[in-house]
Amino acid sequence: MNGSFGVLRAPDHIHFGRGARASLTPAVARLGRRALIVVDPVLAGSTEFQRAERELAEAGIEVRIHTEVTPELPVDEVARAAQAARDFAPDVVVAWGGGSALDLGKLIALLLVHPGPLSDYYGEHRVPGPVLPIVAIPTTAGTGSEVTPVAVVSDPDRELKVGVSDAALIPRVAIVDPDLTAGVPPQVTAASGIDAIVHAAEAFTAGERAPEWSGALPVFVGRNRMSSLLALDALAAMGDALPRAVRDGSDLEARERMAWGSMLAGLAFGSGGTHLSHALQYPIGAITHTPHGVGTGLLLPYVLEALAPWTEDRLVAIAGALGVATGDAPADARAAIDRVAAITAESGIPSSLAEIGITPAELPRIAELAAGVTRLAGNAARTVDPDFLEGILEAALAGDRERLRGGAGQARP
Ligand code: NAD
Repeated sequence: MNGSFGVLRAPDHIHFGRGARASLTPAVARLGRRALIVVDPVLAGSTEFQRAERELAEAGIEVRIHTEVTPELPVDEVARAAQAARDFAPDVVVAWGGGSALDLGKLIALLLVHPGPLSDYYGEHRVPGPVLPIVAIPTTAGTGSEVTPVAVVSDPDRELKVGVSDAALIPRVAIVDPDLTAGVPPQVTAASGIDAIVHAAEAFTAGERAPEWSGALPVFVGRNRMSSLLALDALAAMGDALPRAVRDGSDLEARERMAWGSMLAGLAFGSGGTHLSHALQYPIGAITHTPHGVGTGLLLPYVLEALAPWTEDRLVAIAGALGVATGDAPADARAAIDRVAAITAESGIPSSLAEIGITPAELPRIAELAAGVTRLAGNAARTVDPDFLEGILEAALAGDRERLRGGAGQARP
C-alpha cells in the first residue's frame, strides 16, 4: 500500500478539459463583481484572453488588467503590483499565465488582505487568514500552481529562492484547458514540463511520517495515500508525453496529457511535498537564474539514484507507470531512474550542473543552504545532511550518475 494515511488539499472546483476556459465568467461571477486579472504579457493579446475579457465585461464584471509579470517573480514586483491594485479594491483575482503569473496573482490576493511585507509570510503556515478568492488558469503545463498552496519568489536579499506555503493560497477555482498550452515554445514546454515530472516523482518517493492529527499538520505531510495515487497517475500521463510535446508543440494529445499530469502532480505535491531536487534547486536557481524546472529536472535522476536504497519499492512502481517494468524488482528500480534520465535528455534538459555554470567551489555552500530548507530536505526518504547532499551535487556537477549507485556509499537502510 502506498502509505498508511491520506491528506488532500485542493481547490473547491477544478474544471479540466479542452474548452474549459469558457467556464471562467460563471466561475468569477460566483465569487465577485470586481476582478483583478493578472495575465502574462505574452498572452494578454491572445484571442482566447481577449474573448474572456469581453465575456467578463458582458456579464457586468468590472475588470482591471495587470500585465507586469517577470519570470521567476522578483519580490519587489509583487509588492508594487499589490500596491497598484489597492485603489481598485478587487473582490476576486484571476491569474492567467504560467507559474510566474499564477504565483503573482496568488501573492497579490494575499497582500491585498494581509499587507505584509511579503517576507512576513515566507515559509509554512505564516499566512494569518483567508486571502481574496483566486481563479487560476494555467497556460503552461508544469508548476501545478493552479491547485497548490505555494507561491515562489526571488528575493535579492536571500541566497535562495523563497516560498510562501499555506493552504490559504490554494485557488478557489482551477480552470485547466490544455488548448491554452498549444503555443508554449519548446524550451518553456521542457522546463515547465520536467518540473511537473519532478513534482510527481518526489511526492511519490517522499518520506513517510506519522501525522500528528491533533496538531497543525505541516503543509507538506510527506508520502501518503492520496498524493501517491495522484503522483503515479501523473507520471503515467506525462512520461512519454513530455518529449513529444517538446518535439511537436502541435501534438494536442501530448499537450493534454501534460496539462492533466501537471495538475495531478500539483495536487500530489500540494500535500505530499517535494524533496531534494527542490531543496538543491533553491540555492542553485538563485546563483544561475536558470528556469526552476531546468534545475529540478537536471537534479532528479541524481536524487533518485542517491535515495534508491531507501525507495526501491517506489522506483519499481514508477517503472510500471513509465512502461519500463519487467517484473524483476532491482532491475525495474534501475530502469525507472534510467527512463527518468532519458526523458530529461529527450526534452533537452542539461544533464550536468557544469552545463548551467555551477563550479566545484560553490558546492559546499549549496549543500549547506539546501540542508537548511528543512521542509524539503526533511521530506526525503532518509535523513540527509550537507555531506549527503554534496555527494549528489558532485555527481551532478560531473554528469556522472554511476558514482551514486547503491546510495552514494552511504549507510544502507
Ligand atoms: P513562467 O510562468 O515563468 O513562463 C515562462 C515563459 O513562458 C514566459 O516568458 C511566459 O511569457 C511564457 N509563456 C507562458 N505561457 C505561454 C503560452 N501559453 N504561450 C507562449 N508563451 C507562454 O514559467 P512556468 O514554468 O510556468 O513557471 C515558473 C515559475 O513557477 C517559477 O517562478 C517557479 O518558481 C514557480 N513555481 C511555482 C510552483 C507553485 O506551486 N506555485 C511550483 C513550481 C514552480
